[in-house]
Order: sequence, then C-alpha cells, then structure tokens
Amino acid sequence: MRVDKFLSNMGYGSRKEVKILLKSKAVEVNGEIVRDPKIHVNEHDDIVSIEGDAIIYTEFIYLMMNKPQGVISATEDKHDKTVLDLLTESEHHFEPFPVGRLDKDTEGFLLLTNDGKLAHELLSPKKHVDKTYFAHVEGVVTEEDTDAFKTGVALGDGYVTKPAHLRILESDAVSKIELTITEGKFHQVKRMFESVEKRVIYLKRLSMGPLSLDPDINLGDYRHLTAEEVSRLK
Ligand code: URA
Repeated sequence: MRVDKFLSNMGYGSRKEVKILLKSKAVEVNGEIVRDPKIHVNEHDDIVSIEGDAIIYTEFIYLMMNKPQGVISATEDKHDKTVLDLLTESEHHFEPFPVGRLDKDTEGFLLLTNDGKLAHELLSPKKHVDKTYFAHVEGVVTEEDTDAFKTGVALGDGYVTKPAHLRILESDAVSKIELTITEGKFHQVKRMFESVEKRVIYLKRLSMGPLSLDPDINLGDYRHLTAEEVSRLK
C-alpha cells in the first residue's frame, strides 16, 4: 500500500497531514528517508519508522469509549449520531464497530473494534462475559431484589434471567446500585428492574469482562487499548 495510506491507517493523521510529515523528512522506509506519498510499502516486510521509531503495522483496532447519552451504538443511523461519528478519520480507515449495544440513553464503557472474531467471542452467550453497570433506580431497592436477581427474574416476555449480582450502594427514594450480569438481552438491566416494579433512570456501564472504564476518558472520548489490555480480552 502507499506509504501515506500506511501512515494514515496507523493513526498518524489524515492523508494531508501525513504528506506534511513526509515532507519534514521524519519518515524512513528501511532506513531511507521517504518524502513521496505515492511510494509503496509492504506492511509486513518493510520497516517504516518515524524519527527512528519503527511502526508496527496492525490490521486490528481496539478502542475503549466512554459513550455519552444521545448517540447510537451502531455503525449507522438515519436520525441520530452514532458512536462512529465520535471517531477521527484515521480510526475510520479500520472500519470499527461497537461490540454489543448500549441504549441511546446509556453511558459508559463501549468497546469498538474491527476484530470480528474477538467481538463474536465477547458476545457469545456461551462465554458469559460479565458486564457491570451503575444505575440510579426510582424506588427503594432492597435485599429482596438482590435475592430475586441472584435467583433470576422473569422479564416481560417470560425469559428468566441468569443469576446476577446486585450491590446496593444507596437505598432511598432514588437508589444507587451496581449490577453485574453475564448476558446481554435487549434492555436487560432496565427490564430486570421493571420485573421488580422499579425504574432505571440513569445507566452507565462500568466494565466488560476483564476491562473497566478508564476514569481518565471523558464522556464522548475514547482511547486505544494497550497490547496488554487486548491480550486480557482474548
Ligand atoms: N441494559 C439496559 O437496559 N440498557 C443498556 O444499555 C445496557 C444494558
């Protein structure tokens, strides 16, 4: 592929920005300075470096996003902004997609990747990947709710949920809780509380499997996972 595409794909800016980088003589291919954006590189055999630092080419992208309310966790939507609209051009080259869905009004941890195999494994019902949510719930949440969620509750359509762990942080007219579930049924957290006659009024996902939302990521922002984080997911 062209060296400008290679650099852009690897997150070094738009094609235009990469052209400026090339002009500044910062880019070497196999030890030779390259200024021509049209030069072809073999991403597996050639060593491309910027100011002496070799760039390891990867075809996969893994992003941790703090999803804000009001955006859809899908790749396209007719009416609303999607989480892809929050990414920069260089990430779009990888064609990432969200792993699972969060409701439009749910915030928090969302993984985006183009690694279909990993996404499939994380979403597979057989894998029982833990997802922990923080919620504000209208109504006094009690130990009876904790016990009911532990046993499993029947959702509106009759489906009985798998054992889930409810921690009551504050029990009041509006209660604060954390709930860990191992499945991902449509609106599951909201429907579980509906089954005990309570209403979720704020929902945020805190973690998925071994990864927790990085507190340094502001709402609407995201960062690349480290290699160590990716290996923990696999
Ligand atoms: N459960 C819900 O009800 N909504 C979400 O967005 C995620 C889990």
